[in-house]
Amino acid sequence: MSDCIFCRIVAGEIPAKKIYEDELVLAFHDINPIAPVHFLVIPKIHVASMAELGPEHEAVMGRVMSVAGKLAHEQGATDGFRTIINTGRVGRQEVYHLHVHVVGGPEVLPAML
Ligand code: ADP
Repeated sequence: MSDCIFCRIVAGEIPAKKIYEDELVLAFHDINPIAPVHFLVIPKIHVASMAELGPEHEAVMGRVMSVAGKLAHEQGATDGFRTIINTGRVGRQEVYHLHVHVVGGPEVLPAML
C-alpha cells in the first residue's frame, strides 16, 4: 500500500469528492477549501513535485492543464480563476504528489503577486 495520500485517493483506498477522472488524471475537491471553487488536478502516476518533471510527463501534464481550465468553468469559476503549483520546501508544498490547485469563485481574489 502506498504511503502517498494522493496515490491512495487514485487507488480508491481513501475517499475524495471526485469531480473528473480519465486514464491520465484525477480531479477532486480540496478538503480545506480557501475559496468557493477550490479543487486539485493530479496526474494519476506518482510524480513528487514539479521539480521532478521530465519530457516523459509532457502528455500527462498537458492533460492536467487542459482539464483544470475546463473544470474551472464547469465548477462555477466562469469569470476567471487562479492556478497554483506549490513546489518543495520554499514553495510550501505539503503533499508530495504533484497537484494543481484551481481556486476561484464569484469574487476577485486577493492580490498575491
Ligand atoms: P498547501 O497546504 O501549502 O497548499 P500543497 O500545495 O501541498 O500545500 O497542498 C496540499 C493540499 O491538499 C491542501 O490544500 C490540502 O487541503 C489538500 N488535501 C490534503 N489532503 C487531502 C485529501 N485527503 N483530500 C483532498 N484534499 C486534501
